[in-house]
Amino acid sequence: MKRGLYKAHAVVLNSIDYGESDRILAFFTKEHGKIKGIAKGARRSRKRFVGNLDPLCHIKLNYYCGGGELARVEDASLIEGFHNLRTDIERLSNACYILELVSEMTREGQVFPRVYGMLAGFLRMMDSGAGADGCLLRFFEIRLLNAIGFMPCIDRCVVCNKPIDGAANGAGRLNGFSSEKGGIVCGGCPAGGLLPISPGTARLLSTATKFDEDKLTRLVPGAAFTDESERILYDFIKFQIGKELKTKKFMHKLKNAGF
Ligand SMILES: [Zn+2]
Repeated sequence: MKRGLYKAHAVVLNSIDYGESDRILAFFTKEHGKIKGIAKGARRSRKRFVGNLDPLCHIKLNYYCGGGELARVEDASLIEGFHNLRTDIERLSNACYILELVSEMTREGQVFPRVYGMLAGFLRMMDSGAGADGCLLRFFEIRLLNAIGFMPCIDRCVVCNKPIDGAANGAGRLNGFSSEKGGIVCGGCPAGGLLPISPGTARLLSTATKFDEDKLTRLVPGAAFTDESERILYDFIKFQIGKELKTKKFMHKLKNAGF
C-alpha cells in the first residue's frame, strides 16, 4: 500500500498486548482486506480506543500506512460490539473460530469485500442467537471457501466430471469426499481415503453458497448433514492451510466437557 492515511470498515480479528501500553492487531477490512497494525497507547487512551479494538468488534478505522509491516491505528469507532457473543462461552468460541478461519485463509494484500460482509453478517446472526447447532458455521465455511476461490467440487465428480445427482446408478452415486483431490468422487471412480458424504449434504452445501445470507437459517439440514459437513469441511480447510486451528481444538474440548 502507498504511504498515507486510510479509512476502512473492519472487523477486529485478533489483538495482543505489546510493550507497556500498545496493542498489535489484525483487522479484516472491506476496503483493503487483511491488515496488521499497532495502536499506540491503546491500553492507556480511554478516549480513542476503549472497547473498540477487542476481537470481534465491528469498527470504523483510521490508520496510517508508513510502508512498514504494521499500519499505525489513529482512531477507531464502534459500529457493532456483538455483546451477546461475549457472554456465552459456546457462542464466543464459535465466533472466534470464524475470525481465526478468515485470518488463516486470507493473506494481506488480497481484497475481498464479500468476506468482510460475511464476517460482519454472520457475527450479527450469531449475536442474535442463530447458529447454536453448528449449521451456520458450516454455511460460513463453504461461503468463505467459495468467496476466496477455494470452493471444493461438490456438484460434479472431481475425477471424471460427471454431475452428482444422487441417483442410484453407478456413476451418479457418491463414493466420498477427498480433500487431496479437491472434492467429491463419484461411485464410478476409484479413490482411497475418502470421507463419507451423502447426496443431501452435498446438495445443501451447494445451496448454501447460493442463498441470500439472511435466509440461510431457513435451510433445513438432513440427519447426516451436521457430522458429514463438519468432517469434510474441516478436513478440507486443514488440507489448505496445513495445520489445525486453535479455536477448533478449543471447541472440541468444550464439547467433550459437556458444553
Ligand atoms: Zn467420477
